Amino acid sequence: MTDSNFSRKDVYEGLEFLEFAPLTPRRIEKDMTEANNTNYECCKKCGGKCCKTCGCCISPDDFNHEISFEFLKQEIKKGYISIEYIDHEDIHSDMGIYILRVRNLDSPIVDPHIGKHQCILLRENGCKLTYAERPSGGKLLIPSKTEKCYSKYGLVECCYEWSSYQEILNALSDYFLEKDFPCIIG
Ligand code: SF4
Ligand code: SF4
Repeated sequence: MTDSNFSRKDVYEGLEFLEFAPLTPRRIEKDMTEANNTNYECCKKCGGKCCKTCGCCISPDDFNHEISFEFLKQEIKKGYISIEYIDHEDIHSDMGIYILRVRNLDSPIVDPHIGKHQCILLRENGCKLTYAERPSGGKLLIPSKTEKCYSKYGLVECCYEWSSYQEILNALSDYFLEKDFPCIIG
């Protein structure tokens, strides 16, 4: 579900009241037009600094499938997704939130994510995925020649969208805590 009048301020307010309204709807507008969101010349010059810092945020919408424990379990077993717990202070919320990201190289599936790590899908010539295949966090990171790249789908938006699925992500975090599955994407 999208709402073109939905702003980042609304996302913050949604997170503040999460404790009282855990079933927040997903309604963040996403313009996925490749021509509007990309500048491959810029990214080539930069060499992929963003992807060398962290795997990008995954939105529930990226799966194009009903979100359930069983469905996500099978996706996470492909080894390219990590589950991360975001502390409440990082998102100015009353509570911490579990999200999904593209997994980082040499990092566990349930990732405490301390420091910078390269995304597991980054190759010498850039992202392994086509633009259409990338998660929302990758598709909506807008490159800038002045290195002030702007994310239209960052941590706050990601937390907001996953807030409705905390029970499922919590159970998945328990399930994958001591398990490892190698990345089978490319
Ligand atoms: S989006 Fe920005 S940081 Fe990422 S590769 Fe492109 S120019 Fe570099
Ligand atoms: S999935 Fe692609 S765009 Fe996203 S961080 Fe990894 S290499 Fe970068």
